[in-house]
Amino acid sequence: MSTAEAARIAGLAAHEVLRFDGNTPPLPPAYARQETIGDALAEIQRYPHGGFPILLDAIAEYAGVEPDRVVLGAGADDLLLLCGRAFAGPGDVVRVLDEPTYPVFRLAAWLAGADVGEETAVLTYCCRPHNPTGALGPLPEIRPLVVDEAYFEFAGDTAAGTPGVIAVRTFSKAFGLAAARVGYAVADADVARELVVRQNPLSVTTLSIALALAALRAGPPDVSETLAERERLASRLRELGLHPLESHANFLYVPMEEAQAAYERMLRLGLVVRPFENAIRITVHTPQANDRLLDALEQANG
Ligand code: PMP
Repeated sequence: MSTAEAARIAGLAAHEVLRFDGNTPPLPPAYARQETIGDALAEIQRYPHGGFPILLDAIAEYAGVEPDRVVLGAGADDLLLLCGRAFAGPGDVVRVLDEPTYPVFRLAAWLAGADVGEETAVLTYCCRPHNPTGALGPLPEIRPLVVDEAYFEFAGDTAAGTPGVIAVRTFSKAFGLAAARVGYAVADADVARELVVRQNPLSVTTLSIALALAALRAGPPDVSETLAERERLASRLRELGLHPLESHANFLYVPMEEAQAAYERMLRLGLVVRPFENAIRITVHTPQANDRLLDALEQANG
């Protein structure tokens, strides 16, 4: 749902709506400014010939692998779809672990013309940390395996570099660049080569590349405040009699009956959470925003 639509339902201005459903940071990072994209703008009339080796090198260093194992994409979603069409075709079976989970895994299978199933899978997807629960399970042993590590920085645990694994990561979450659409995959070098061949042509823009490079040059994202605020939010939710699951990401999964009704009640107050059948998922926001959500939940309880 657009923020404009949420504002209309709540009878608020768009800037008064608080989004707890995107799992992105509440504020833009310091490197997201005009100067960062100045050089790219000065050459915006040209195609970016020759790819982006500087960013590949920087990502490789960040991920602790060789640059020939890194594949760039327009967000993690682009790479998840790429993996689907690189490994699977009509008649093939693709497996999705720990469902319900991130819906793009199924989409990737369907867009490749494959079916989602259990047996004889040509490719398996898993999400680690898991969306929507935030759990960090053991790395499955099945190969080839796509491990969606969109929330890697919040958990610190990775499968990048493991043979037979394609770890898919993003600049959308801890780096705070969701609208720039940059992600990457770390795979075995031969798989990375195959993925590059099947990639959408020139899907990542020079503007986004400049932002991603600035993000890496600023050093690993500091997620400590988000993690501390997540734990504060979790303990306040427990005080309200709710039972958020242990999370290794920047969101909390809160089981509740009547989740849809709770979602709608929050929406009418301009607070957008993500509803599931028997739970809501809450992105960790600023302390002030989280307090507004907590107040609304408390009133609904009381
Ligand atoms: N994977 C998971 C598990 C996600 O939650 C998200 C964001 N909703 C994505 C991938 C998409 O990331 P990106 O913005 O890089 O496409």
